[in-house]
Amino acid sequence: MSDTEFDLIVLGGGSGGLAAAFRAAEHGARVAVLEPGELGGTCVNLGCVPKKAMWLAAELAQRIEMGCRMGFNVSQPKLDWREFVVHRQRYIAGIHDSYRKRLDSHGVVRVPSYGRLIGEGRVETQDGLRLSAPHIVIATGSRPTRPPVPGAELGGVSDDFFNLCDAPERVAIVGGGYIAVELASVLQALGSRVDLFVRGARLLESFDAELSAALADNLRQVGVRGRFGYRLGAVEARGQGVRLVAEDGTCSEHYDLLLFATGRQANTEGLGLEAAGVAANETGAIEVDDYQNTSASGIYAIGDVTGKVPLTPVAIAAARRLMNRVFGGQADAKLDYRDIPTVVFAHPPLGRTGLSEEEARLQHGQGAVSVYRASFRPMLDALADTPMRSLFKLVCVGEDKRVVGLHLLGEGSDEMLQGFAVAIKRGVTLDDLHDTVAIHPSSAEEVVLMR
Ligand code: NDP
Repeated sequence: MSDTEFDLIVLGGGSGGLAAAFRAAEHGARVAVLEPGELGGTCVNLGCVPKKAMWLAAELAQRIEMGCRMGFNVSQPKLDWREFVVHRQRYIAGIHDSYRKRLDSHGVVRVPSYGRLIGEGRVETQDGLRLSAPHIVIATGSRPTRPPVPGAELGGVSDDFFNLCDAPERVAIVGGGYIAVELASVLQALGSRVDLFVRGARLLESFDAELSAALADNLRQVGVRGRFGYRLGAVEARGQGVRLVAEDGTCSEHYDLLLFATGRQANTEGLGLEAAGVAANETGAIEVDDYQNTSASGIYAIGDVTGKVPLTPVAIAAARRLMNRVFGGQADAKLDYRDIPTVVFAHPPLGRTGLSEEEARLQHGQGAVSVYRASFRPMLDALADTPMRSLFKLVCVGEDKRVVGLHLLGEGSDEMLQGFAVAIKRGVTLDDLHDTVAIHPSSAEEVVLMR
C-alpha cells in the first residue's frame, strides 16, 4: 500500500469521526483522518465540553448563593470569568492531547486539511494531495445558523458565547431549543439578565410538554423572561448593543448581547457530494439508511451531518457500530435510534428517555397509557427556601405497565437518567421499579416510589 492508499478515509475529526477512526484501526484498518481544525470538533471545542464547564460554574454560583442563605459566610461570591476560562481551556487542551496520543498509538494518519470527494474512492486535500480508500466516512458535523432577517449579523451564535470573558448585563436569546435554554440558564446564573424570544408556544418542543412547562416556570423564578409566539422581523444596532424588531413592528428594549440559538446546518458545502453521487436532503443533510450508508457505495455518513439525532454520543455509537460492520465482521451492526437518553443542561437539568406522554398516546392509543408523577422540592432547595421544584414523570403502557418513557426535571436528573435508561431499554415495568428498595433521602428514590 502506498502512502496515499488507505482502508478508510474519515472526513472530520470530531467525536464521530475520531470514534470511527479508532474503532477501524482497532480492527486492523489503515486509516487517515482529515481535520483542518482542532481535534474533537464541536463537542470538545464549541459545544458539550466548554458548555458543561460553564454550566458547572453556574451550578457553583447557585450553590454558593444557597449556602449564603443557610448561614455560610462567603464574601463577594463573584466569578472571575477570565480565570475560569483558563481552567476550561486547560481541560480542553488535555482532551486534544489525549486524542493526539490515541491517534499515534492507533497508527492513524492525521491530515490537517479539508477534503473533497472526487469519485471512485478518492479524496483530494486542499493542497491537491490525492488519497484513496475503498471506504470513506463523512463526519463533518454542523454549524449554527442565523434566521434570515435584516440585521441578523448583529447577533452572535453559540460559538461566540465561548469568547465571552464576562457576563453581559442584558442578553436576548432567540430560540427555544437545547442551546437557547442552556445559554439562558448559564448566563442568568452568572449575572446577566436574560430574555428568551421563542417562536413557538413553549420551550423544547421535543420534550414532554408538562416538564417543559415546569422548566419554563423554574427559569422564570430565577429571572429569565420568556416571550412566546415571538416572530422576529429584524435586528437593529443601538449604541454598543442591539434591539429586536418583531414582525408586527414592535421594538424590544436594548440588549448588550444578542445570541441566536435557532438550529444548525450540516457542513456539506465543498465536499463534492454530487461528484461522488452522495444524496443530501433539502436542508443539506446527507441522507443515510439504517446502516449509515449514503446513496454512494463505500461512502457512509455519521453524526450531525446526517441531521439524525444530533448528539455526540449518538455519533460515536453509530460510528463504532458502522466500523464493526465494515471491518469487524459484524454484518448486522447498526445503531438503534430508539430510546436515546438526553439531557438539557439547564438549571435545573431536564432529561428524557423514551416516549413523551403525547408520543406514547399516539403510538399506543389513549387507553393503553398510564402516567405517574412526582412533584417535590429537593432537600437542598427546601433547606435554602428557594422556589425550585422537581417534576418526574413515568409513562407506562399495557397491562404490565412497561415503562416506555421517563422524564426528569430537577437537581441531579443529569446523573440519574443513565441507569434508568438501561432499565427501560431492557423492558423494565412499574412493578420492577416498585420492587426496588429506595435510596433515602434522595431525589432518585422518587422514581421507584411513583404510584
Ligand atoms: P434546536 O433544534 O434544539 O432548537 C432550535 C430552536 O430555534 C427552536 O426553538 C426553533 O423553533 C427555533 N428557530 C428555528 N428557526 C428560527 C427562526 N427563524 N426564528 C426563530 N426561532 C427559530 O436547535 P439548537 O440550535 O438549540 O441545538 C441544535 C442541536 O444540538 C439540538 O437539537 C441538540 O440535538 C444538540 N444539542 C444538544 C445538547 C445536549 O445534549 N445537552 C446541547 C446543545 C445542543 P421552532 O421549534 O419553532 O422551529
